[in-house]
Amino acid sequence: MTSPVTRAVRDGDGWMLTGHKYLITGAPVVELVLVRVPVEGGPPGSLTCFVLPIDHPGVTRGPVVQTLLADGFTGQLEFDGARLGAEHLIGREHGGVELLRFGRNWIRLRRAGMCSGLARHCLDRSLAYAQERHSCGRPIAEYGDVGAMLVDSYQDWTAMRSLSIELLARFQREDVDDALYRVADRAVQVHGGRGLLTEAGLEKIFRVARNLRIAGGTRETQRAAMLATFTEDEDATFDFGLA
Ligand SMILES: Cc1cc2nc3c(=O)[nH]c(=O)nc-3n(C[C@H](O)[C@H](O)[C@H](O)COP(=O)(O)OP(=O)(O)OC[C@H]3O[C@@H](n4cnc5c(N)ncnc54)[C@H](O)[C@@H]3O)c2cc1C
Repeated sequence: MTSPVTRAVRDGDGWMLTGHKYLITGAPVVELVLVRVPVEGGPPGSLTCFVLPIDHPGVTRGPVVQTLLADGFTGQLEFDGARLGAEHLIGREHGGVELLRFGRNWIRLRRAGMCSGLARHCLDRSLAYAQERHSCGRPIAEYGDVGAMLVDSYQDWTAMRSLSIELLARFQREDVDDALYRVADRAVQVHGGRGLLTEAGLEKIFRVARNLRIAGGTRETQRAAMLATFTEDEDATFDFGLA
């Protein structure tokens, strides 16, 4: 499946927006739409940011797209010649990439704490279950493989928590999504068949964690941005800004 392109063209003193956004969080319910699009004839790679109400002429909600989360909260948006004026522009024309980076930094800043909290929840529940659940006369926590999963998750959680604090200090970003995914996966594993039951709630955290590795920017694009940060800031790998 190729990505459909949404774009704007200059139209008098405004713009005309046409296209289709395929995977949009909250599309079935949102009242305001924030859209970043290339403006035809603009610098290559540039984006322009607009905000408009969902009932703006030329804007319609598309169908709900069911994802791993199965929550009906992701959907499509259609733009069919939606006319935009200066009042819809955020920042400057072609200045949307900088705004995108800024917005994503904020999202990931909040996410670091969220991942750390969810991971701690998974760990606490896994530990309690492993101590309470007996197999062949012993708590499963005493079996090496189960104990190793708990230790690995503890290490991941410690790293996540440290990173979330460092992120707050630096307003930088790191990748905590993969670590939460590992911890959530182990929590399901430690709980055995019960971990897969929806009533246990752990499979939901597992699905949320898997979703996070794509929906807010993939691991690969995060790494590319991280490389750019380190290249721009020679001290970034050594000075963690906690002084
Ligand atoms: C549930 C959900 C909700 C979403 N909500 C929104 C939303 O509200 N708003 C919105 O704008 N988008 C939203 N998205 C889209 C989401 O941001 C993209 O799916 C995500 O950024 C990946 O882009 P893609 O799907 O086009 O994958 P592709 O770009 O096709 O990526 C395919 C693979 O190539 C890698 N790749 C691509 N480019 C690079 C690169 N430059 N360097 C290294 N590797 C690269 C990717 O990491 C991935 O592994 C949502 C997606 C989901 C699943």
